[in-house]
Amino acid sequence: MVAQVIDGKAFAAKVRAQVADQVAKLKEENGITPGLAVVLVGEDPASQVYVRSKGKMTVEVGMNSYEHKLDVDTSEEDLLALIDKLNNDPAVHGILVQLPLPKHLNEDLVINSIDPAKDVDGFHISNVGLLGTGQKSMVPCTPLGCLMMLRDHHGSLSGMDAVVIGRSNIVGKPMAQLLLGDSCTVTIAHSRTKDLPDVVRRADIVVAAVGRPEMVPGDWIKEGATVIDVGINRIERDGKNKLVGDVDYASAAERAGAITPVPGGVGPMTIACLLANTLTAACRSNGLPEPEGLTA
Ligand code: NAD
Repeated sequence: MVAQVIDGKAFAAKVRAQVADQVAKLKEENGITPGLAVVLVGEDPASQVYVRSKGKMTVEVGMNSYEHKLDVDTSEEDLLALIDKLNNDPAVHGILVQLPLPKHLNEDLVINSIDPAKDVDGFHISNVGLLGTGQKSMVPCTPLGCLMMLRDHHGSLSGMDAVVIGRSNIVGKPMAQLLLGDSCTVTIAHSRTKDLPDVVRRADIVVAAVGRPEMVPGDWIKEGATVIDVGINRIERDGKNKLVGDVDYASAAERAGAITPVPGGVGPMTIACLLANTLTAACRSNGLPEPEGLTA
């Protein structure tokens, strides 16, 4: 079997176009322009790249982008004061604090100081609890993007066996909750899982979120399974820098029914879902119906 490639780049462009349409309607019919505030502390080069492209795409879909760049030695008190200001600013519907934060700042404290209704990353403890209990929440962007691609490919996921490799708070755990919400039978595998190859071989859906280059070989994949590769790993091969996923793409594509490439799979969906979440937050905070097809 040669796998169908799930084109995350094209799908993300479609999601952004949907967001842009709804933003235009929201402006015209309700006079509301959704606003996303991104807070970056320090000068981590990867974070700077992310923040720049988030800002650019926010403006491209017609939203307002507010960037707050703070010194690496900003105190917790000053950061919390900024978040408090953004929580109380009616022009700001979504707040994202770029992680990781410098070591002297308490990440949990900072994230939990964001108004849960504006927590477009879905990391606030209230949103985690709401997702875990099947209630309306803000859903973390990367797993939301994976869910959208899976729904688009399969329609219903009900009854499918899903294995999520990785148990992080930002990808693995919320991904498992979302798949459970769509009635999959879900296994969360991690670094201490016994017989990982056997666990993965049972799965109709494999979501790999580990951070280890090409650790899942093709012979772990059940014939016809759908493979979602969240991993982004920089490696050097043949003297060149290359991005690869957590799945060995070449061998997995020979057995899978469908697979996301790296790059061009899950990555572009993450920012698209951040924009979708900001739109959702703007609609909810104004008592308007949520945008269709852009939430969990
Ligand atoms: P993390 O380091 O927080 O978690 C990794 C998880 O993998 C852990 O739960 C650990 O138990 C598990 N693990 C480690 N070694 C393992 C092994 N040998 N076998 C099975 N499980 C093992 O990472 P994260 O933040 O969840 O990110 C995972 C990957 O996804 C990274 O490559 C990251 O860059 C990528 N990522 C991509 C996006 C995107 O937008 N595409 C977003 C977030 C993360």
